[in-house]
Amino acid sequence: MSKLILVPTPIGNLKDITFRALEVLGNADLILAEDTRQASKLLNHYNIRTPLQSHHMFNEHKSVETVCAKIAGGITIALISDAGTPGISDPGFLLVRTCLEKGLEVETLPGPTALIPAIVNSGLPCDRFCFEGFLPQKKGRNKRLSGLVDEARTMVFYESPYRLVKALNEMAEHFGPDREACVSRELSKIYEENVRGSLAFLAEYYNEKPPKGEIVIVVAGKKEK
Ligand code: SAM
Repeated sequence: MSKLILVPTPIGNLKDITFRALEVLGNADLILAEDTRQASKLLNHYNIRTPLQSHHMFNEHKSVETVCAKIAGGITIALISDAGTPGISDPGFLLVRTCLEKGLEVETLPGPTALIPAIVNSGLPCDRFCFEGFLPQKKGRNKRLSGLVDEARTMVFYESPYRLVKALNEMAEHFGPDREACVSRELSKIYEENVRGSLAFLAEYYNEKPPKGEIVIVVAGKKEK
């Protein structure tokens, strides 16, 4: 039966892909990719020749109906993003929701995503956590952090290297400078770095050593009395 299959792809190390993901990508009738040039690197590496089409947040609203019509017509489509799991701070949600509304089958393979290794490796409690994705860049940033002041679960944020120090300082203001945290940078890549300490320490550390690459910030929740 035709369906939409969401396929997680590596977040840095090309070896971090499952046998099933490769099989699904090889057998699909069409692969939708956030960036076809980026996707070609992965597909060429694994000698996958499935036709490729672009699907990103700028054409997502327009293309969703066409994609659903193709699945309804009998073809199986695999969706990938630039890295990690589609739908997690990446396009995917709209297509999944529209397929489900139309009664089309959707399947998501388990696989790479940046938030899971970051939280597990942080040493902070990972039995319960909340994923906050990216903070708004300007408007709404303060409000989002204020809303998390009493959050008792460990919090996970995605952040750009250019805004890391700003984010750590803002978090120190809202959650207190002594709140424990961990910054995971370039997970699964050659220069992977995990720095643990208080928010004040981390802000100072990265102020002196401006970071490059991709970053996850994990912050301890408020201690429950
Ligand atoms: N879909 C992806 C996932 O499942 O994690 C997330 C895509 S989002 C556009 C990209 C953000 O994920 C980066 O800005 C960074 O916060 C985080 N990220 C992705 N790869 C990473 C890596 N190798 N190391 C640390 N963070 C990473």
